[in-house]
Amino acid sequence: MIPLLERADNFKERTALRSDSSSLSYGELLDTAHIVASQLLNGRADLYESRIAFLIPPSPEYTVVQWGIWNAGGIAVPLCVLHPLPSIQYVLEDTEAEYVIAHDNYYEFLQPLQESTAVKLLHLDSVLSGSGGALPEINPGRNAMILYTSGTTSKPKGVVTTHNNISSQIKTLVDAWEWEMDDHILNVLPLHHVHGIINVMSCALWVGACCEFLPKFDANKVWDIMASGRLSLFMAVPTIYFKLISYWDKASEEEQKQLSKAVSDLRLMVSGSAALPVPVLEKWQAITGHVLLERYGMTEIGMALSNSYRGERRPGYVGKPLPGVEIRLVDANGKEIPSGSPGEIQVKGPCVFKAYWRKEQATKEAFTEDGWFKTGDMAEFNDGIYKILGRNSVDIIKSGGYKISALQIEDVLRRHEEIEDCAVVGLPDEEWGEVIAACLISTKPSVDTDAITEWLKGELPGYQLPRKYVVREELPRNVLGKVTKQAVKQFF
Ligand code: ATP
Ligand code: MG
Repeated sequence: MIPLLERADNFKERTALRSDSSSLSYGELLDTAHIVASQLLNGRADLYESRIAFLIPPSPEYTVVQWGIWNAGGIAVPLCVLHPLPSIQYVLEDTEAEYVIAHDNYYEFLQPLQESTAVKLLHLDSVLSGSGGALPEINPGRNAMILYTSGTTSKPKGVVTTHNNISSQIKTLVDAWEWEMDDHILNVLPLHHVHGIINVMSCALWVGACCEFLPKFDANKVWDIMASGRLSLFMAVPTIYFKLISYWDKASEEEQKQLSKAVSDLRLMVSGSAALPVPVLEKWQAITGHVLLERYGMTEIGMALSNSYRGERRPGYVGKPLPGVEIRLVDANGKEIPSGSPGEIQVKGPCVFKAYWRKEQATKEAFTEDGWFKTGDMAEFNDGIYKILGRNSVDIIKSGGYKISALQIEDVLRRHEEIEDCAVVGLPDEEWGEVIAACLISTKPSVDTDAITEWLKGELPGYQLPRKYVVREELPRNVLGKVTKQAVKQFF
């Protein structure tokens, strides 16, 4: 029994999925997923533990295939349509996928892998037709999905989750954000990551709501769909809000009024996957009236901390533990620390993944002896809510005996009127251990970095001042819009 699919039986007549070219009811979604399963089974009783990859743009067919793989008992491995061939090859080889199912747009693109890997390439159309036969009995403790981490700090790791993990990650958000049947959400995210797969698509399907897909983000189209009045929820990464704001900035005054009005009826707008810059939150509030709800999560755990749906949403903070998720902060020796001091976030609960795919050592190292997952992210707990300080590996700069949060320096820099965005890193230094360096994106053609340092002296203690600067036109980011700090370090 797969909880998400079993629930769908209650909503057969309702619209589950739509795109600009098609729409599927829950009944049609279940029936087509049954056909896909039978095609994949092809006479076998169960695809237990078999990895089935798929490269399909965000669309109703994406969900049909994912559910089809689950129905057949297999492990779903969603691939990213924005990734180049070598990244896809890495995932197919690492998972030793039996099949890769390709949308027509990607069938030719994947052909070379038929020769260089053991995977069998299937055209999407070939699994969508036929009739549904017998399906295996599925225990929800079974492995359901392998998602790769974003690769922000090192090579992406395959994260194995069970159907129970997935249900728990969904339920947490359905409760906290009060999802209901009449909700309608727009997905603009790539679907190889928890943000799109769990928070957007699967939460909608859990409650009988509608998930609409844009094959890829397009500011103009997003504003258009918002103006239709059919959306009740929207979730995105900070760079998407930034792009929506840039679009709004360029519109005429009359258009701006219409755009702002278009979103005012939504009941919730969420940001996550990377720290939400406070100026972005403030500008979004000024133009739409919405205070973005920021939350914190990871591929390994789903969502763990969230600002409140009905209560306070404090800019720069990520709120409290979500229902069913246990959180603690520990020091470098693994000892729980008092409020007000920085510590590593550790997580426990049914949402926590089972293992890194075929990485026994890494899995072992990721957990404490008493079963807490070590996130590698640092936070502070004050007044009952959490503030993310960044990744221990790249965002916590160790300089002259201090531990300095790069994210906090970035927050201050972004308040300077000439700085549109920035990324702060630590560079190795014999004398200090590390020195602070800042990459700036400016609204001005030239930047006087001495003047910036002078201004910063009024905002930060001396040991937190950047010693080096570079000015660039944009920051290096991965497909989720996360700044890749290793690439920033290369600028110096
Ligand atoms: P990799 O593990 O391969 O380096 P990654 O950690 O970016 O990549 P994800 O699982 O996609 O892979 O991202 C989770 C990370 O994103 C968290 O560990 C955290 O560092 C960051 N993150 C998520 N939400 C927030 C937030 N609201 N504020 C700050 N950081 C966040
Ligand atoms: Mg990570």
